[in-house]
Amino acid sequence: MSDNCIFCKIAAGQIPATKIYEDEDVMAFHDIHPIANVHFLVVPKRHIESLQAAVAADQALLGKLLLLAPKLAGEHGLGEGFRTMINTGAKGGQSVFHLHLHVFGGGGKAESMM
Ligand code: 5GP
Ligand code: ZN
Repeated sequence: MSDNCIFCKIAAGQIPATKIYEDEDVMAFHDIHPIANVHFLVVPKRHIESLQAAVAADQALLGKLLLLAPKLAGEHGLGEGFRTMINTGAKGGQSVFHLHLHVFGGGGKAESMM
């Protein structure tokens, strides 16, 4: 756990989130400021700062995150399609420096952004 990391605190149950999935390695919860009608984040529980900080030993974990996206999307009404996004680094739009995969769709604000 990294000090002052909001997603580590969610993983540790220290701050609340609307979790939609959790196992020993990963969790998923609704984004607090959704940019679409459905918008959730798929997050490794272990602190990895960003995609740039991931290493070969994280390969299975990264695969797990990606495979969870369509499963959870389907369970949340996005069976016909959804968008995914991983922001990397401040210049890549990352604001929480704990790796996460955005999954969103179902109409709403994001449709007009792209
Ligand atoms: P980034 O900009 O790093 O790709 O995305 C971070 C996302 O985390 C943003 O969409 C933001 O709304 C979301 N977020 C930030 N803090 C919290 C929080 O405390 N709880 C939840 N559920 N989402 C958060
Ligand atoms: Zn963290």
